[in-house]
Amino acid sequence: MRKPSRRPDAAVSAASGEASLDRGQGVFGQYQKFFELSFDLLCIAGFDGYFKLLSPSWEKTLGFSQEELLSEPFVDFVHPDDREATAAETGKLVEGTITISFDNRYRTKNGEYRWLVWSAVPDPDRNLILAVARDITERKVFEARLRAAKESAEAANRAKSEFLARMSHELRTPLNSVIGFSEVLLSGKGGDLTQVQHDYLRRVRSNGEHLLGLINQVLDLAKVEARKVEVQTELVDLADLVRAVAAQFEGQIRNGEVELAEQIAPQLDPIEVDRRKLSQILFNLVGNAVKFTPKGRITIRVGADETDPHRASFVEVEDTGIGIPDEALATIFERFEQVDAFGSGKIEGTGLGLAISRSLAELLGYRLTVKSDTGIGSKFRIELLPGLDLASSGDSAMRRVAAGKPAREPSPDRDFSDRLVLVVDDDADARMLLTHALHELGCQVLTATSGEQGLRLAREHEPDLITLDLMMPEPDGWELLARFKAEPRLRHIPVVVVSNAAREKADSAIGAAGVLDKPVALEELHRAVIEGFLGSRRRVLIVDDSADDREFMSACMKQLGAVVETTASGHEALSRLASFAPDVVLVDLVMPGMNGAEFISKLREIPACGDLPVILVTAKDLGADELAVLSRATSAVIQKGPELSDELGDLCRRLWSSGAGGKAASAASR
Ligand code: ADP
Repeated sequence: MRKPSRRPDAAVSAASGEASLDRGQGVFGQYQKFFELSFDLLCIAGFDGYFKLLSPSWEKTLGFSQEELLSEPFVDFVHPDDREATAAETGKLVEGTITISFDNRYRTKNGEYRWLVWSAVPDPDRNLILAVARDITERKVFEARLRAAKESAEAANRAKSEFLARMSHELRTPLNSVIGFSEVLLSGKGGDLTQVQHDYLRRVRSNGEHLLGLINQVLDLAKVEARKVEVQTELVDLADLVRAVAAQFEGQIRNGEVELAEQIAPQLDPIEVDRRKLSQILFNLVGNAVKFTPKGRITIRVGADETDPHRASFVEVEDTGIGIPDEALATIFERFEQVDAFGSGKIEGTGLGLAISRSLAELLGYRLTVKSDTGIGSKFRIELLPGLDLASSGDSAMRRVAAGKPAREPSPDRDFSDRLVLVVDDDADARMLLTHALHELGCQVLTATSGEQGLRLAREHEPDLITLDLMMPEPDGWELLARFKAEPRLRHIPVVVVSNAAREKADSAIGAAGVLDKPVALEELHRAVIEGFLGSRRRVLIVDDSADDREFMSACMKQLGAVVETTASGHEALSRLASFAPDVVLVDLVMPGMNGAEFISKLREIPACGDLPVILVTAKDLGADELAVLSRATSAVIQKGPELSDELGDLCRRLWSSGAGGKAASAASR
């Protein structure tokens, strides 16, 4: 803002334009009436920082007389906090820039401030600014109130979410003990129980599980409704997703009365979706179908768009169960709504599953609908392309997950007596339950009651696996996990997170080999631990055209505890790499088609295999030159012969203890 150079008169001659601004006269005088009519605050000010002409509305708004307003630089009426911005804005006007929607506060005669919003244009010929201001104080006050209300609503919402998260944690911790210890007793490990005691205990456990389900679902629903859940999309193959969901029900439908089938349109492109959330919806729907279909058939169907066979259009779960009466169809998606279809007055479940499913579907941009006939069955459908008509998937490829299909993944290696597992959990009951479960697997167990102790014990004992609680006093599980992953000696130890917070925080447990919810079902924990052990086992790919040699080397490697895959040619090995990532490759030199040396050079072209340790195994007597060349391209060159088993053993142990990836044995071993 320019400082005024002189006190102005009511009539001022603008320096260059010589126009008189005496009120009622001169160039602007003829617009006096116009000024008087305006509800807005019109003014003409000079580049010198003084008002020259003001509409009467100024006096009404600020309470000052025209004379008072004209006698002081206008910036003196501006709120001290807005003066700098006002001066800058005036400066821009003087330089020729127009002002649009500039806000500042003007003092009134009684010392209050009014908010004004300005539009102005410069008149450089006359060194004047023509401006109009509007009193927006009411709007500002309203906006401030609105902001405060929004902030307080957000704070309340945050508090609610925190309360829910905390409360659910507090409720789940003792429940874990109730369920876990009931399970221990029911499994017969806690001594003999009479039939009646057994029966009571089963009720304790099933009610505990019910309560836990309720707590988890309330939490889920609250989070979805509070839009607290993030949608994380990825490209998802719907056939895989459906199969994974179906597999989770294998155990429940083994009685042979119900058949669970999949019908998936062929040639579907993957869709971009939040895998976890879509799985959760489908899991709820199939769970209901299983629950309400005492006998018959459940079909999970994925249909294609009628106009584009590659585009998935819907996923539906159809059952031939008890169906839903018409009058109930409208309400089953409401919270806590259930139909007492069996007329028993006792209904299992929480009545929240469908409410959550519909909210989740909406969150993903989908529609969840239902059709049902009592006594015939129900069909729940997730419309992936909203607005499309129900398309029938007549030409679907039918595959069956027949009742009684063998359970997945039998454990190849059940002797874990030499495995040490470190359990880190601040809750004594949880430690006891996990220890019990791990002893059942035959593992040795070490427990830590805090993150600090966990870290110390991990460093001292370098266990084969760690189970980790997340919500502990400092350092908490997340921090501990990060510290494990940061230490070279601990980095490779698989960590299975077992926590109340696992459901909500699975994504934040970065680097965990598995994430399990408390209370952990025994089977689930065993599977995760075994997978953890397997994951920590070295993976060896053997490439040799001789079946006998493949078998021999495979046996040597298995003795070292490795997971082995064998192939008979270099070509086959290269394509196997897409599904099997080895820690070391044993390759024969002389093979038909692609020989060992050619295989290695092709292997090195794959970015992830640039450093992959390769051991060349050959029956050929190599010359010094050839040996030198091959040694440079590999970790070692070994002669086939009676010493092969020992040499391979030594070499691999050295490779693995050096952290693999580099050259463990630089010299050729012969
Ligand atoms: P719940 O946990 O009780 O199953 P849901 O919200 O998932 O809660 O389901 C609400 C009600 O809708 C169920 O209690 C049941 O009466 C009805 N329902 C849901 N799915 C089916 C189905 N496939 N067949 C028959 N009734 C169903």
